[in-house]
Amino acid sequence: MSKQRKCLIVGAGMAGLTAARVLRERDWDVTVLDKGRGVGGRMATRRLGDARLDHGAQFFTVREAAFREVVHEWEQRGWVRVWFEESGHQRYCAEQGLNGLAKRLAEGLDVRSGTLVTRVEAAGHGWKTVTEAGEELCGDALILTAPAPQTLTLLDGCGAELHGKLRAIEYDPCFALLLTGEGASLVPAPGFVRPPSGIVSWIGDNVQKGITAGKGFALTVHATAEFTRLHFDSESEAVAEMLEEAASPWFAGRVSDRQLHRWRYSQPLKVCEKRCLVTGSLVVGGDAWGGPRIEGAFLSGLAAAAAIAG
Ligand SMILES: Cc1cc2nc3c(=O)[nH]c(=O)nc-3n(C[C@H](O)[C@H](O)[C@H](O)COP(=O)(O)OP(=O)(O)OC[C@H]3O[C@@H](n4cnc5c(N)ncnc54)[C@H](O)[C@@H]3O)c2cc1C
Repeated sequence: MSKQRKCLIVGAGMAGLTAARVLRERDWDVTVLDKGRGVGGRMATRRLGDARLDHGAQFFTVREAAFREVVHEWEQRGWVRVWFEESGHQRYCAEQGLNGLAKRLAEGLDVRSGTLVTRVEAAGHGWKTVTEAGEELCGDALILTAPAPQTLTLLDGCGAELHGKLRAIEYDPCFALLLTGEGASLVPAPGFVRPPSGIVSWIGDNVQKGITAGKGFALTVHATAEFTRLHFDSESEAVAEMLEEAASPWFAGRVSDRQLHRWRYSQPLKVCEKRCLVTGSLVVGGDAWGGPRIEGAFLSGLAAAAAIAG
């Protein structure tokens, strides 16, 4: 009987979880390592008081048949539903917020959250990951799905060509401000606004979206990349104040709670031509390879698993 092959995956976002699910179906032994407290990466949902708010990605779209097929399955299971339609594309949200979908996808997988990988290196015919706590894991194959600058730090001495490709990938940063209060949301149906000018690029109403119960308002405010770049290292209170002021036409009443999050790597500015980069049993993927969105991360995860398992 042949030995079950082992794959290590860094990153439990959409790309890493997709690759893990496919490999597990093909009878690989898979371990996913993520530095975050939970799974999902940029599919992030937070609680603020009683409210639940998506603070990373706000929705996802479907363009390719492979993604359409799984989204259809998720829809049948009640995990996702159409939030609204725009320019001929349906925008999907998830029942418990987008992080809820990531949790569903992680069910039954060996995911080790709170595990920062600090180094990867070739070991025999496979690969070894070393964590911040000094734990070493070995696998026949390794898939890296973190944003490119984070992957780069893991790959010290792993080839100039790979380094060059990763270094060329840049991301927009994004401040996300979460606001809750007892007044009313003035965001029009179906629950989002993209202010045409100013420092705010998006306001999402999580109550109209249907991921949180309906007393008061629960808004996600995204800053423009320009504003975020300019103020990335500024003090949180000052940034939150400016963004709250800019979002104030879209709610009535007092803000009871607010929280600011800094996404250093929000969305890649340029996407690589291939869906993943394969160097023997090492595969680099993520949304910078498949496309700067959730669907892109899914497609990259799929391609990464195919590169490993054939
Ligand atoms: C503010 C914002 C708004 C967005 N809006 C949309 C939208 O509306 N629609 C859309 O489709 N997409 C949107 N996106 C983009 C979308 O979220 C991403 O394209 C997608 O989620 C990327 O998935 P991924 O698996 O490639 O990466 P990630 O989700 O970033 O997953 C990578 C994981 O790697 C982990 N990691 C990194 N380094 C290490 C390490 N050294 N050790 C262990 N773990 C590590 C991270 O913790 C993370 O969980 C948005 C993103 C942001 C931030």
